[in-house]
Amino acid sequence: MARRLAAQPFARRVAARAAEIAARAIAVAGRAPEVAVVVATSQPDALLYVDRLLTQVRATGLAGRRVDLGPGATESQIFAALAELSADSNVAGVILQLPLPSGVSREIVVAAIAPTKDIDGITSVNAERLAEGMYDPSLLPATAAAVMELLRAYEIPLRGRPAAVVGRSAIVGRPVAQLLEIEGALVQVAHSKTPDLGLVTRAADVLVVAAGVRGLVRGEHVSPGAVVIDVGIHPSGDTIVGDVDAPSVEARLGETGGLSPVPGGVGQMTSAILALHAAEAAERLVRTRA
Ligand code: NDP
Repeated sequence: MARRLAAQPFARRVAARAAEIAARAIAVAGRAPEVAVVVATSQPDALLYVDRLLTQVRATGLAGRRVDLGPGATESQIFAALAELSADSNVAGVILQLPLPSGVSREIVVAAIAPTKDIDGITSVNAERLAEGMYDPSLLPATAAAVMELLRAYEIPLRGRPAAVVGRSAIVGRPVAQLLEIEGALVQVAHSKTPDLGLVTRAADVLVVAAGVRGLVRGEHVSPGAVVIDVGIHPSGDTIVGDVDAPSVEARLGETGGLSPVPGGVGQMTSAILALHAAEAAERLVRTRA
């Protein structure tokens, strides 16, 4: 059976670092800077995620605010809320929760987020900086940063090694592929048009799966000894499962391989990373005020 690459205890350490940084910022500011999450959906999973995220932010000592616009919000309302929060001198970080109401352009509303407050790395300014390799780590997409943090925590070598990413979304797959490449891995990206998924994934020593398809990657898709990071989240009864069929993949990877669990893997690390990004944004806010 493969090694279980759990987020704990590393996620706890990231959260503790976030609390330290936040405490310094609060001491200088004399009050807790805020992190605001703009929500324009009534999807229960999304609302639950936002509540958990705000709990994690508040655990650092920062203030967390949910700005609920409702599922009927228009593009201009969402844009205006994001612009107002971006201009607010006590707001350190601004997050836009997905999904957006139908007809609302993500690209248009995201442009209202100030790049320095974009703690989930979704603005085009921060995406371009990553593409150029000149990025601020605290402004990376949190899930991509969480994947890299897990790989670092388990000391998985990347330089010169074949890696693959399944998925090329702007918030997960693409930034993960870019970060792996920056670390010196030889990266292939698979997507929905890839004719033979196994051909790409079996060649990888390090495989990150972010396809949004439950159980897509099975034992026959991986090579023994590889490290597999499962980003997928799918509700399943009282729990969640990933994009990886864990039983068959663990068996195929063998003792020298590793698999991140769902739950308890990337998702848990992502919350801790977002709290860290929030704390770093608070420090930045306080510095710019000084
Ligand atoms: P998207 O739907 O935006 O992107 C999915 C990507 O996977 C696309 O690039 C798509 O290809 C590709 N894909 C879809 N089907 C296949 C297939 N059969 N074979 C190969 N590639 C395929 O999803 P996200 O990137 O937003 O999310 C991916 C997963 O990660 C989801 O399960 C989501 O819930 C989870 N997630 C987890 C987070 C965490 O913190 N743990 C945070 C965010 C997401 P194409 O581009 O061709 O359409």
